[in-house]
Amino acid sequence: MTVTPASRRGPGRAPDRIVVLTGAGLSAESGIPTFRDGDGLWERHRIEDVATPEAFDRDPALVLRFYDMRRAAAATAQPNPAHAALARLSHHPGVTLVTQNIDTLLERAGARDVIHMHGRIDGALCAACDHRWTAPAAMAPADPCPACGRPRTRPDIVWFGEMPYHMDQIEQALARAQLFAAIGTSGQVYPAAGFVDFARAVGAETVELNLVPTDDALDRFDASIAGPAGRTVPAWVEGLIGPG
Ligand code: NAD
Repeated sequence: MTVTPASRRGPGRAPDRIVVLTGAGLSAESGIPTFRDGDGLWERHRIEDVATPEAFDRDPALVLRFYDMRRAAAATAQPNPAHAALARLSHHPGVTLVTQNIDTLLERAGARDVIHMHGRIDGALCAACDHRWTAPAAMAPADPCPACGRPRTRPDIVWFGEMPYHMDQIEQALARAQLFAAIGTSGQVYPAAGFVDFARAVGAETVELNLVPTDDALDRFDASIAGPAGRTVPAWVEGLIGPG
């Protein structure tokens, strides 16, 4: 099952409204571990220990150390050809780029208006007053908020059990989508995992690009393109908007 929508449409003829959802697989070739693959983050850390509000209440120092490590890893990683291709696509009219990734490799590749539905590793948030600022390399539980002074700072990350950011904006884009693509995501974390169903319900063409097709890809997507994102995404983008 490797029929690409672009091959049916003809190269360089993108639909007017495209929504792209990316996941950890997009950044895998940049050396940032995914969550659920064999050597993924959850093999080494339990979700309950590091990525929930309860974990932060219980042991904020541990949670902040986990994100300090991820911030350092993200800062030294370099965008790969898939980030570069999506950055080019993001400048095309009618494209909405949504990422579950907390790294900023899409921005560093030149992408514009990336919607970070799970937050950003380079951001800090005050849980008391919602003020946001650039996170320092190392965060400490007693760090005061620069705006209100209270020691309630946390990473600007959406933890399991919390509501993802920008859902209204994403749903508006999905409601108008003619093409929906899910790239490098296992489709296990909701609500993002449900975007394909939403897009199909409004009549959008749907395609998955993943290292290997996800379990129910045949049922949920019109097409599935298998292979590493660094190879498949540039070819897919070229099929939509032509060569760069
Ligand atoms: P996931 O780990 O559940 O799934 C990753 C998917 O990418 C898998 O289906 C895997 O087959 C695929 N994949 C692996 N290498 C690939 C490659 N080279 N090319 C194409 N596909 C590849 O990740 P997910 O679906 O994004 O899970 C959602 C959660 O993971 C989100 O909450 C997100 O915030 C978080 N996450 C983000 C990062 C990051 O910021 N880079 C890293 C790990 C996890």
